[in-house]
Amino acid sequence: MTNREAWRAEFSRTVLFCLFGLLIGWMAGSWAWALLAAVLPLLLLHVAQLHRLVRWLAMGKLSELPQAKGLWGQVFEGIYDLKRRNRKRKRRLTAIVSEFQASTAALPDAAVVLNKDDEIVWFNDAAERLLSIGHRDIGQRVGFLLRSPEFNRYLAGGDYDGPVEIPSHVNQDVTLSIRVVPYGNRQRLMIGRDISHLRRLEQTRRDFVANASHELRTPLTVLKGYLDMMASEREGPLAVWNAPLGEMQQQSERMERIISDLLKLARLESTPDETPEEPVDIDELFAELEDEAEEISRQRHRLVFSIEDHRQLLGRRSELYSAFSNLVFNALQYTPDGGEVAVRWWVDDQGCHLSVSDTGIGVAPKDLPRLTERFYRVDVARSRATGGTGLGLAIVKHAVEHHNGHLHIDSVVGQGSTFSCHFPVSRLVREAA
Ligand code: ADP
Repeated sequence: MTNREAWRAEFSRTVLFCLFGLLIGWMAGSWAWALLAAVLPLLLLHVAQLHRLVRWLAMGKLSELPQAKGLWGQVFEGIYDLKRRNRKRKRRLTAIVSEFQASTAALPDAAVVLNKDDEIVWFNDAAERLLSIGHRDIGQRVGFLLRSPEFNRYLAGGDYDGPVEIPSHVNQDVTLSIRVVPYGNRQRLMIGRDISHLRRLEQTRRDFVANASHELRTPLTVLKGYLDMMASEREGPLAVWNAPLGEMQQQSERMERIISDLLKLARLESTPDETPEEPVDIDELFAELEDEAEEISRQRHRLVFSIEDHRQLLGRRSELYSAFSNLVFNALQYTPDGGEVAVRWWVDDQGCHLSVSDTGIGVAPKDLPRLTERFYRVDVARSRATGGTGLGLAIVKHAVEHHNGHLHIDSVVGQGSTFSCHFPVSRLVREAA
């Protein structure tokens, strides 16, 4: 029966009952009876169908669809249809969820679903193994289980662009890289990976570079000593060797600088760093920087040093000095005579900042992302000629990151560059020196 036919049948039945009521009313001489006679059977009919509907819904069995004609038949069939479609959708979703669970269960990485309150909703087998999460932990806050202040800060911070690395609470020798991916209604998927192997490899590489540099230092000092001695003899049988000796001296000095920078980098990379942090007096640091800059520049550049806030910065002075002086040294090296080098220190809501701007040769956009790589130089010959090692900016980047900061570079070829170090507000010591 179509919808239209059902409505027509229902309408005819209602009209029939009304006519019947009118007849009774006319015979009984009372319109109240007429109303009762018309409405009561209709009401009873609907209540009976309603009762069948409620009973069917309560039973929950799709197969036992109550049979009815007219409009009620349509209602039953409509609900039946809805229920059937719902059941199909549910089955499809269940299949998707089981497939997702089966594939994530097979993942070698730990996967944990968290709700908006950071409570564990679901986890895979690897999470059980790597993070020691069990079924008893469903509904528990994940931070409580991992027991890592660093992870808690990461989770609360809401900046999930990169992963956070933490030692495993199950095994201190294991390093975990944890990444959170937000999705849906404030839900999050947490992915954990064991990166101990990678860290061990990096450590081996770092140790090798540090040991090799250290081992090279002593023979180089001996060679340099003899070279200095020989070069000092301007006359006599060695006089003809003056030019090659000078060249050898220059090269050995270069090697010494490279070794010294490599050792600096190795020290910066060694974790944990045992050197304690202390309030660093920026005024005093700037005074030393300015002296050094003047000595290198020898009036070839206009130097502008400005400090806009005199509070101290919490950190390691030697690292900070090394970073800042590298930037100033570069600015002087890559700015032609007559140019300007401006060094500025300021504090705002975002944190504390140092910028070194120059009006030098600048860097092309394609080279910018690679500048902080070890030994990356835009112009190798020029860098060598100015005594560069290609390690300066790598040292700057590490030193700044050691202080929870980051290095930013802006540059336009032929116009100049600005290298800025940004540190968080938490690095600022409230009192001025
Ligand atoms: P280097 O010892 O060669 O200066 P760095 O790591 O300090 O090594 O710098 C890497 C490269 O970045 C340099 O070789 C140079 O090409 C470029 N560079 C660094 N600072 C500047 C600057 N202020 N202006 C232009 N180029 C720069």
